[in-house]
Amino acid sequence: MTTAPPPYDPANPLVVLGAGVMGVGITTLALGHGLPVHLVDVDPERLTRARDRIAEELRLAHLLGALPPDTAPGELTTGTGTDPAAGAAAVIEAITENAELKAKVLAEVSALVRPGTPLITNTSSIPVDELAGAVERPAELVGTHFMNPPYLIRTAEVIRGRRTGDPVMASVASLLAALRREAVVVRDAPGFVTSRILHPMINDAARVVEQGTATAEAVDTLMQGCLGHPTGPLRTADLIGLDNLVDSLWVLHERTGDEGCRPCELLLRLVREGRHGRKSGSGFYDYH
Ligand code: NAD
Repeated sequence: MTTAPPPYDPANPLVVLGAGVMGVGITTLALGHGLPVHLVDVDPERLTRARDRIAEELRLAHLLGALPPDTAPGELTTGTGTDPAAGAAAVIEAITENAELKAKVLAEVSALVRPGTPLITNTSSIPVDELAGAVERPAELVGTHFMNPPYLIRTAEVIRGRRTGDPVMASVASLLAALRREAVVVRDAPGFVTSRILHPMINDAARVVEQGTATAEAVDTLMQGCLGHPTGPLRTADLIGLDNLVDSLWVLHERTGDEGCRPCELLLRLVREGRHGRKSGSGFYDYH
């Protein structure tokens, strides 16, 4: 006889793996909705910086009216080990966009969690089914592609892998409802919907700058003013992080063979120079 999986239980902490741009944003979203979070990173300095950034982002999100005003923030704990996954309500993996690394970490965590605990990957581009090969119970792995910043963008792409089961889909729907996000469920493929469309488009925008047709400002102003893009693709690229964008483009290129996904020279140069966008202080724009 099989036992029913536990429903998503908000009394137990959400374990978030990776304290970078997205780990910080997802943690802010969850704390702001009153959920306790345990945030994990291999780099203790990142965890220290993340605490300050989360406090700032919580303040900013409240000022923008993006979080429920009467909800007391959930408790934040941090650490470098994955052991707390054993008592997690759900685990959200938001580490570097590298398939081997993600597979290794997901395999480790899947051996720790209680059966029935949703294992959620926030990958931008790696097919969920590819990562499912590494975990103990592939039916419990699902993709939830939060956008940056997760507390401002209310829609989240949910990726159902070939082996993802109904119980985990129901648990994730309940988690996203607790976070007041609107889920759009799509099928699995490299880059799913949003990255498959957005990332090559940003690559093209960077190529236009590389070829000297226009400045980054001109590209963004035209895309905003003429085509209704909210910020312009190159400001979006700086917000995503150019290193992450290049990793995602390589994932897309390797898995689709689409030459439009080969990162252009300008993107590669900016990453080599450490100009990773907002998080490093400069990218297409300067943030100092
Ligand atoms: P990031 O580079 O800002 O942060 C990644 C973090 O993962 C770093 O702090 C790093 O120290 C940590 N890390 C690496 N290996 C680890 C391990 N083994 N255990 C724990 N932590 C580890 O990256 P990001 O922009 O936050 O992206 C994270 C994930 O979210 C990626 O898969 C990315 O493609 C995806 N994503 C990013 C965005 C975005 O706008 N940046 C949007 C949607 C999805």
